[in-house]
Order: sequence, then C-alpha cells, then structure tokens
Amino acid sequence: MRRALVSGASRGIGAACAEALARDGNFVAVNYLKSRERAEALAKRIGGAAFQADVSDYSQVERMTAAFGSADIIVANAGIALQKLFSDTTPEEWRRVFAVNVDGAYNLIRSALPHMIHEKWGRIVVISSVWGVRGGSCEAAYSASKAALIGLTKALAKELGPSGITVNCVCPGVIDTDMNSVLDGETVASLTEDTPLCRLGTPEDVAEAVRFLCSEGASFVTGQVIGVDGGFGV
Ligand code: NAP
Repeated sequence: MRRALVSGASRGIGAACAEALARDGNFVAVNYLKSRERAEALAKRIGGAAFQADVSDYSQVERMTAAFGSADIIVANAGIALQKLFSDTTPEEWRRVFAVNVDGAYNLIRSALPHMIHEKWGRIVVISSVWGVRGGSCEAAYSASKAALIGLTKALAKELGPSGITVNCVCPGVIDTDMNSVLDGETVASLTEDTPLCRLGTPEDVAEAVRFLCSEGASFVTGQVIGVDGGFGV
C-alpha cells in the first residue's frame, strides 16, 4: 500500500483527490489548515488520517511529515486565491499568496523527497491553474504563483527522473468549489460560456487526472502540464 499526502484536502479539489487516491488503495493523509471537523470526517470515511499544518511554514510541514511517516505520493494542492487590481495588492498579500501557493509546494516536496529518493519511486502532482498559463486580469499574484509551479514541475521532472520520481502539474479551469463562491452569477455564466464543454468542472473531474498521474500506469508520464478545464485554456 502506497502512502499519499494531499495538502488542502479538507474541501474542494483536495478532498476529491484524497477520496480518489484512497479508492485506488493508498493510505491517505488529509492535510488541512482550519477545517478540522471536515478533514477528520473525510479521513475517517476513507480510512486515512488528518493532519493540521500550514503548508507555508516549513517547520509545520516537517512535523506533519514526521507524524504521518514517509509519503510515496505528494499532491501539492493547498492554495489561496486573490482577486485584486495589481496596484491595490499589498506586499503582505503578495507574499501570502506566494507563501501558501509556491513555498507550500516547496515545503511539501522537500520534506517528502529523502524517502522517495531512497525508494527510487515517487509521484508528485502539483495543482497549478489555467490562470498560471493564460494569466488572469485582477489575479496577477495568483497567476504568477501558479506559473511558478509550472516551472517547478518541469525543472523537478528533469532533476528527479533519474531517481524514479515523476513530477506533473494539473491546471484546473473553473471548478465549482468554495474558492469560486466569491464570483457573482453573471461572472459564472460568462466563464461557463467561455468553456467549450459548457459547464464548470467538478472537484472529481480534477481528482481523476490526479489519480491517474499518481498510479503505476502513469510511470512514463513526467514534466507534463495537463489542463482539466473543459477546453477553457485552449
Ligand atoms: P478551496 O475550496 O478554497 O479549498 C482550499 C483548501 O486548501 C482547503 O482544504 C484549505 O484548508 C486548504 N488550505 C488553504 N490554505 C492552506 C494552508 N496555508 N495550509 C494548508 N491548507 C491550506 O480551494 P479549491 O478550489 O479546492 O482549490 C484547490 C487548489 O486548486 C488550489 O491550489 C487552487 O488554486 C487550485 N485551483 C482551483 C480552481 C477552482 O476553480 N476552484 C481552479 C484552478 C486551480 P481549510 O479548509 O482547513 O481552510
């Protein structure tokens, strides 16, 4: 049985990833920041374990990794959005977006790597965004942080391939989660219209791609940036 750690797995895309990986026979760590009850309920349902840690803080991630034990699979999913004009974005807001979205991925991957390298087997999936590819107006910090994850994926795929570790990136389009609850009806309708498959995505749509990338069957897939966006990014 492989051991998988999914960050930000209390809700939305991360929760669906945790469920899909558990269905595939993995023992799953459900990481969360604030939603303890939801994380614990999910962990119980899927036979995994819940761990609180702010992914932006390396020492908290190290503690979580030590408590969970060695992870063979990392899904760096935890992320925060920021919808603001670039000129209104404060240095603190900019830093927080990068701390969670980019440093969070670094912290998770770095702390899991010694075990993966020792085993000569590992699966790393980083959750970026269609905005990391296309750039989103009034989402400069978010888009820049998600673009950084694409660079990280490609560089790490090259560096870690000889160690038997695959590194891939999933770029969701507009997915129906709490993250998009700030959008008004008109914006949602317009985003749906711009999506060739004419609907918002579900967390399960994204989780299915993540599940594949973490499976034995994906052993020759690395360094890829895969859109799960209903064609929105085309
Ligand atoms: P969500 O519904 O807002 O859930 C965010 C999750 O991240 C929650 O489990 C939250 O934990 C956790 N989290 C936030 N900050 C954290 C931190 N510092 N440390 C640990 N966990 C933290 O988001 P989502 O829509 O599922 O998005 C998941 C990922 O997909 C994000 O990286 C997001 O950027 C990306 N994405 C989403 C969309 C979309 O349309 N929804 C599109 C493209 C990319 P708590 O519940 O404990 O607070």
